[in-house]
Amino acid sequence: MPLTDNFGRSIHDLRISITDRCNYKCVYCRTGTNGAAYAELPFEDYLRMARILVGLGITKIRLTGGEPLLRKGIVEFVRDLARLRTAAGKKPEIALTTNGHLLAEIAQPLKDAGLDRVTVSMDAVDAERFARITRVPNGYESVLAGVRASRQAGLDPVKINCVLLRGFNEDQIANFGKFAREERVVVRFIEFMPLEEDRVWTPEIVVTLDEIVSRMAEYLPLEEIAHERSETARRYRFSDGVGEIGIIAPVSHPFCGHCSRIRITSDGKLRTCLFSVWDHDLHELMRRGATDEKLIEFIVKVVEKKEERHHIGEPGFVPASRTMVHIGG
Ligand code: SAM
Repeated sequence: MPLTDNFGRSIHDLRISITDRCNYKCVYCRTGTNGAAYAELPFEDYLRMARILVGLGITKIRLTGGEPLLRKGIVEFVRDLARLRTAAGKKPEIALTTNGHLLAEIAQPLKDAGLDRVTVSMDAVDAERFARITRVPNGYESVLAGVRASRQAGLDPVKINCVLLRGFNEDQIANFGKFAREERVVVRFIEFMPLEEDRVWTPEIVVTLDEIVSRMAEYLPLEEIAHERSETARRYRFSDGVGEIGIIAPVSHPFCGHCSRIRITSDGKLRTCLFSVWDHDLHELMRRGATDEKLIEFIVKVVEKKEERHHIGEPGFVPASRTMVHIGG
């Protein structure tokens, strides 16, 4: 019985936030004063949720946060997730989104435990700018070491996610193009969404897909690559065939119509959209002793009501009930 919502979208992509603590205070994400806001669960609770959801058709699990590498025991958790089997008898694809600060040491053990892919967030490719954005000194070298260790461990292709903010880091676009080619990674630019703690978002701050493509073309021309419908990123390769970039454009080119995702927050709530104005307390049901059958019934009902789309930039837009760091990006 695969999970499907009332708009006919099949749901096969799960993101689990395993903590909302973070060791970075990126200026566009956090206020710099707030810390964790929500509880985190023992891994066995996330594992039970994941097992049930894989039984309902989830084929891809991404671990995120907060900063997921702050959780001790993540390697064992990945090993346990890798033992789950989809309806087709396959191991679910397991991915990680991280700021990369603690990645160098743990990339190989994660790969050995069954991690398939890693996405590292980087919003600048020079050390000084990187420190200004993350508000942590000397992070750049650690993250670069994490990216390289991931490639060495065979977590290929390593993806780099970069959020661009006008007047802040859009001058890094060509540098990121160079970085993608030199480090053999896929750089993906993400349009800034109104999910920050500080509520600084305006449409003018967003650096849009069209602008990114034309600025990158000033460095080197790009050719678009065909992409899967459910893929969030539009993909481009440089015209000489070396290097790939992607652009995730939820603001200027929304892809809600083929969204295949649901999320579990660090405190065990089910969220059906980044922009949900409420979430659904799966963990509370578990805590009260619900059987797997009851949990399945709950999940199926919640997923059916997944929001049709987000309303970014529209009059009357209602901000999400949690910000990015507390949902899990
Ligand atoms: N700490 C991990 C990391 O840095 O990748 C995982 C969590 S972080 C919230 C996940 C991603 O969300 C990062 O790439 C971050 O840049 C992105 N992000 C945070 N706030 C955002 C916003 N308002 N709009 C778009 N992306 C955002």
